[in-house]
Amino acid sequence: MPGTSGTHDGGRVALVSGGSRGIGRATVLRLAQEGYDVAFCYGADPEAARSVEKAAADLGGGRVIGRRADVTDAGSVRELVAFTEQELGDIDVAVTSAGITRDNPLLLMKDEDWHQVLDVNLDGTYHVCRAVVFGMMKRKSGCIINISSVAGVYGNATQTNYAASKAGIIGFTRSLAKEAGRYRVRANVVAPGFIETDMTAGLPEKVRDEAAKSIPLRRFGRPEEVADMVAYLVRADYVTGAVFQVDGGIVL
Ligand code: NAD
Repeated sequence: MPGTSGTHDGGRVALVSGGSRGIGRATVLRLAQEGYDVAFCYGADPEAARSVEKAAADLGGGRVIGRRADVTDAGSVRELVAFTEQELGDIDVAVTSAGITRDNPLLLMKDEDWHQVLDVNLDGTYHVCRAVVFGMMKRKSGCIINISSVAGVYGNATQTNYAASKAGIIGFTRSLAKEAGRYRVRANVVAPGFIETDMTAGLPEKVRDEAAKSIPLRRFGRPEEVADMVAYLVRADYVTGAVFQVDGGIVL
């Protein structure tokens, strides 16, 4: 439970990027159920955001507020952080789940798709961490959890852009953990495998079946199973600079 020990002592505010859908949504709901007041941002679709707020209210627990913000824009993220602090208080936990894919073999990769994926996934993670870390260091308390992917650990054909962004998140987070540890700020990575969300919903059935066969647990994961790992890391006061795969045992 929050507030019982370590880095989250006295604080109960979380910020989640990309909280309107999938893994971000499950994380928002899980943290709210654990008593956190949660602000989350989303890229488009206010209706999806309102449905997360409603689901949180139905479940009970902390306050949940969704706000549109573009993680590729440092100013938009700073505004989101200021809004969160004003509405809910100092941010104790930040989870970066906003992410996109634009898959293609490198031979066919469009420059635009390369840059867009790096902008959202890697720059977006940087912008959120950059905006929250000073307050956390000043308060000597904070927990950052960045969502990478098994593609960033092993690489994945047709995902050079995505894998590069997700591997970048791992190097970024390990470095941040080394910088911020002395201020009692922890930074960890969760690297999911195939998870049932909108991101994987568009995969052709044949690809999904093949993928499921390559997973030792023989199924895609659920967003809530990734949120379980996030919830663990929020409490894990002696864990930093680590990468946790939630992937059913897959090796790509
Ligand atoms: P999703 O597509 O269901 O949701 C993505 C979220 O990111 C949405 O809330 C969307 O509004 C937000 N977003 C996108 N661009 C944004 C922007 N520019 N600014 C602000 N928000 C933006 O995705 P998901 O499957 O829940 O994935 C969440 C994270 O987990 C991503 O980083 C993804 O790369 C990673 N991941 C997913 C899987 C999977 O199988 N689903 C596997 C490994 C890693």
